[in-house]
Amino acid sequence: MTTLALLGGKPVIAEPLPVYRSIGRAEIDAVVAVMEDGCLSGFYGSHSPKFFGGPKVRELEAAWSARYHVRHAVTVNSATSGLIAAMGALALGPGDEVIVTPWSMSASAVAPLFVGAIPVFADIEDETFGLDPAAVEASITPRTRAIIAVNLFGHPARWDELRAVARRHGLALVEDNAQAPLAADRGRPCGTLGDIGVFSLNYHKHIHSGEGGVCVTDDDALALRLQLIRNHGENVVEPMAVDDIVDIVGHNFRLSEMSAAVAIEQLRRIDLHVERRERVAAILTDATAGLEGLIPPAVRAGCRHNYYMWALRCDPRILGVSRNRFAAALAAEGVPNACGYVRPLYGLPLFRRRTAWGRHGFPFTLSDRTYPDNLCPVAERLQSREAILFQPPNWDIDDALAHRLAEALHKVHRHRAELAGE
Ligand SMILES: *Cc1c(COP(=O)(O)O)cnc(C)c1O
Repeated sequence: MTTLALLGGKPVIAEPLPVYRSIGRAEIDAVVAVMEDGCLSGFYGSHSPKFFGGPKVRELEAAWSARYHVRHAVTVNSATSGLIAAMGALALGPGDEVIVTPWSMSASAVAPLFVGAIPVFADIEDETFGLDPAAVEASITPRTRAIIAVNLFGHPARWDELRAVARRHGLALVEDNAQAPLAADRGRPCGTLGDIGVFSLNYHKHIHSGEGGVCVTDDDALALRLQLIRNHGENVVEPMAVDDIVDIVGHNFRLSEMSAAVAIEQLRRIDLHVERRERVAAILTDATAGLEGLIPPAVRAGCRHNYYMWALRCDPRILGVSRNRFAAALAAEGVPNACGYVRPLYGLPLFRRRTAWGRHGFPFTLSDRTYPDNLCPVAERLQSREAILFQPPNWDIDDALAHRLAEALHKVHRHRAELAGE
């Protein structure tokens, strides 16, 4: 009889899993070519054709906007910078409220603070883990100016409904698409579903250039403001006859030529990387179907999920064992996984203590908002009791290994009664 590895048995997978690697010869050659050229950044922070970046930056932006069928792609040095630039491009300012999600990477909720705006957390929904449009609408006040929605784990948020809410209340919509390149909602690519979409090119994403980001928009004025904020626009507003200088204050969010050269090659291969994860995810999802108490990631009708994470949920009452215990047993079988994702972001000391800039608490001094426990009960429940995140789709694993991961899942499920009571 088999025994769970957690209880002393043999693990299903004993060897370390391969590390995800998307960098190949093409990227190496592209970087060498830039190095040989000697100009590692083509930006000038003053009025000049080079204000908009060097040849590789411009080539990447052209390739990105062609791939996404958008009028403008503006590269930046990270998605975090892109989100901050988006806040500025929208001319948000002190005391404005921005509705954000509690369950994401911190930048998705912290970005408004850079222009003195106040993040307001709305709860998420169970199915896609994105902002719940009803919760968003209930959070709107006369001070609300924008919404930052995230396509979490690679699945589109409820964009139709979010757009309808935004339109009804005259709000801007920023799409944090760091995790969801090639995800789509009825054929429309994620990243292009809001007023400004922000992509990440950091090492942990599907494709990367070490660090980097891309903002996309169809709005000419927003694109120019993103470009101004990216590169010391304060120096060029006069010669460029830019009248609206709000929030154009001194950033350097420029991407290097080397990073751009890498990203150009990565973009060429993005389909392969996403399709690989879809295959792995399909194997895991098929294997989980019908296992009572476990809920594999849902894909809403007409949507494409890119599986930045394969996020399993459990119902501990049906499962008969706690999420933590079940996940620990899976880990012991050789399936690296995480219990939950991040603590809901309003729990960060920055929010709890209402302290951002200076010693007096700006910008929270402009708002009565507090950030208590259980502000967003759905996010709390998912994080504390239900979510089990699988990262295997991040890795270079073949179908055979994916089937062994599935086997580990089955083994733990089959023997879960042995885990109960502890
Ligand atoms: C990774 C990530 C970011 C930040 O991306 P960087 O390029 O590292 O700044 C923002 N939002 C989400 C949802 C992310 O996953």
